[in-house]
Amino acid sequence: MKKNSIAIIGGGLTGCASALYLKNKGYDVSIYEKDNDLGGITKDLKFHNQIYLNGPNYLNPESLLIQLIKEKNFFNNNILTKNISYGSYTDIFGKKTFDSDFAHPVSFEKFKKKISSKIKVNNLLERIRYYPKKTSKDLINWCSKFENELIKLHPECSNALGIGRVYFKNSEKELLIAKKKSNFYDSLLGIPNLNKLNTKFCIPKNGYNLFFQNLKKFLKEKNIKIILSNKISIKKEKDKIFFNTSKKSIVADYFIWACNPVPLLYSLNIGKLDNPIIKTKILSCDLSENSKKIHNRYIQVFSKKSNIFRIYIYNLKKKNKLTIELMINKKNNDEKKELEYSLNILSKFGYKFDIKDPIYETKQIRHILFTTDDYEKFMKFEKISKNFNIISGGWYLTGSQAKMNHIKKTIKKLNL
Ligand SMILES: Cc1cc2nc3c(=O)[nH]c(=O)nc-3n(C[C@H](O)[C@H](O)[C@H](O)COP(=O)(O)OP(=O)(O)OC[C@H]3O[C@@H](n4cnc5c(N)ncnc54)[C@H](O)[C@@H]3O)c2cc1C
Repeated sequence: MKKNSIAIIGGGLTGCASALYLKNKGYDVSIYEKDNDLGGITKDLKFHNQIYLNGPNYLNPESLLIQLIKEKNFFNNNILTKNISYGSYTDIFGKKTFDSDFAHPVSFEKFKKKISSKIKVNNLLERIRYYPKKTSKDLINWCSKFENELIKLHPECSNALGIGRVYFKNSEKELLIAKKKSNFYDSLLGIPNLNKLNTKFCIPKNGYNLFFQNLKKFLKEKNIKIILSNKISIKKEKDKIFFNTSKKSIVADYFIWACNPVPLLYSLNIGKLDNPIIKTKILSCDLSENSKKIHNRYIQVFSKKSNIFRIYIYNLKKKNKLTIELMINKKNNDEKKELEYSLNILSKFGYKFDIKDPIYETKQIRHILFTTDDYEKFMKFEKISKNFNIISGGWYLTGSQAKMNHIKKTIKKLNL
């Protein structure tokens, strides 16, 4: 029997992993990508022939893409499996703390809570209010820097903001009890996992740009069609949806929309998404030549004084590099101060080095949040998507691994 043809719109991690998965299952697969190369948001930042990571995009060895590229020599030639450490710096609760075995915010407030079994959380604000009073108030204050209304955001956005879990340093015993008693409190509270100080992650040997160039060849060898520089538009006519390149309508049995969900939901009359955004500024630079080869690490920052929310140091193309992510808000950013601030944080984690000029700066808009109304619209889409032969890109899930798994599960369920 002839297998179905599937058109994937969006050539980011989700689209590429889905393409390989489906091709291995015998489908006729095409990827349509609006840019002139694959890679999406993971593509490296490029300044004057120097490349820097665009986020601590470390891939889980268990993720669908890594599992699928394990065959032949592709994995060995392109991917390194490394111990990557993380950490956190917190001062938003009053006391400064530098912790190297997790990326959660750390509170010194006593965790004394009655754990109720009847829990209903409608939005991110309500979720944060389940923490003890002072922690909750300070966390809400810190979140206000992202300039999004917490009452409108879906509770799951806590993960995207790095506040999925809080560690109460003075109450480890109480935390363990609460985590065992309730799944909700388990998702709310963090404790150090000392066995996992160094976690194994996969990372492209020479950055994501080169990885995606090689992946493109690998996909083409498998007869996956790749159509670049083609922004797909959507047209609804009566009860049918058409996906169009600039020249023609795409003919396929099924479509996977692994990119921006806004135009798709709008075309299906589900409505306009609130589409909350985070405005970020990214500073990247090389470190002094004499510094030893650096062990990859990222540090989550929860600070009253600074707008930094992530710092990462890494070795790429035999050079030690530093990248700092700042949120852009009404508070004026002084880049020089923020850079000094991050060096100070890094020194507490044992890193001493000099920064090499130039320091490159770029601005980016992150689409990692969604409101509770958006979530309802996504669920409406999931209900009707079968009628239109469209599979969602798991837009409302955090992280590429969850998005890839969502597509794999949906395909299995549909039994195409
Ligand atoms: C509420 C909400 C709103 C969002 N809004 C946006 C948004 O406005 N813009 C955005 O980029 N992401 C948006 N996203 C993110 C989107 O969910 C992810 O881009 C997508 O789920 C795929 O995941 P990925 O990690 O592979 O993404 P990515 O790495 O971002 O890959 C997506 C790829 O699709 C390509 N692409 C985008 N549009 C088209 C198109 N029309 N035709 C062909 N290729 C295309 C991009 O160039 C990119 O390479 C939004 C997410 C949510 C939850």
